[in-house]
Amino acid sequence: MRRHYPKRIRPILNRWYSAELDDGAAPPVSQELWQQGANAKAVKTQAHIGEDFLIFTHTMLSGDPAVCSHASPGCLSACVVSQAGMVKVFPQIREGRARLNRAYKANPERYLQQLADQHVSIVDRYHCFGLWRGNTGQDIPLAPAITIANREIKRRGLPRQIWYDYTAVKEYALDPTRPANYHLCFSRKENNSADCWEVLTAGGIVAVVFHQVGNYANHGAYKQRLPETWKVFGKEYPVYDGDQHDIRIPGLFDPPRPDNGEGYIVGLRLKGDYRGRQKAIETGFSLEVAS
Ligand code: SF4
Repeated sequence: MRRHYPKRIRPILNRWYSAELDDGAAPPVSQELWQQGANAKAVKTQAHIGEDFLIFTHTMLSGDPAVCSHASPGCLSACVVSQAGMVKVFPQIREGRARLNRAYKANPERYLQQLADQHVSIVDRYHCFGLWRGNTGQDIPLAPAITIANREIKRRGLPRQIWYDYTAVKEYALDPTRPANYHLCFSRKENNSADCWEVLTAGGIVAVVFHQVGNYANHGAYKQRLPETWKVFGKEYPVYDGDQHDIRIPGLFDPPRPDNGEGYIVGLRLKGDYRGRQKAIETGFSLEVAS
């Protein structure tokens, strides 16, 4: 039976919710770390999958080396989180995200504890089945937060949750000790072909941005064609369309992994305004598809 959730699902703020984490000190941030329906991609993805799973996102201020350690010139220019949407219009959104960056930098361990704690408080209050994208605008190591959350959720007998993300850090993508409910898709950039090859060979999924030459800025982006395959170091991999939704979990909403044990490519169309698009093309962040 489908549940009827309130319009706005909110975590408990300003106190530790998990008794296990409560050492008497106040949590580092007095604001919601998790949001629902806060960005266009999440809304589109939610509409695509229906409401059996709810999507939650956690977005910091992207581009800061402390939270995007493997950002490249190309991805910085094409980053849909910082270069598109409301953050360009409303300074308060930018400041809210910057506050999260500051709290994380001041004490990463405490910040991740609070991220886990707010996650558990949502699951406990609403008993929802969630898809959690913890790195919507950053690329920080989330495994410690997921481990804390998994332990607490199991202890309380709550529904098991799924986490998913994109990352450009090969060590995260290939980490054999990563929690089993954390799914990572590796992001290709102009400077990491060898890492892409390594991840694909190990059975991982790699997201690659493609473009067609012409006027495809802003809403025109979706008219661009994707290639059928992409070749890296002489080996060709199938390309699947990744623009319908952004849940990169093989076999759930994306195709299952091939039987040969290797990964595949998720193709994304280059998005953004004219200038960002040009920069992404010039740097090699986006790969051209012949018209
Ligand atoms: S694309 Fe990813 S790594 Fe690059 S700036 Fe945006 S969030 Fe950071």
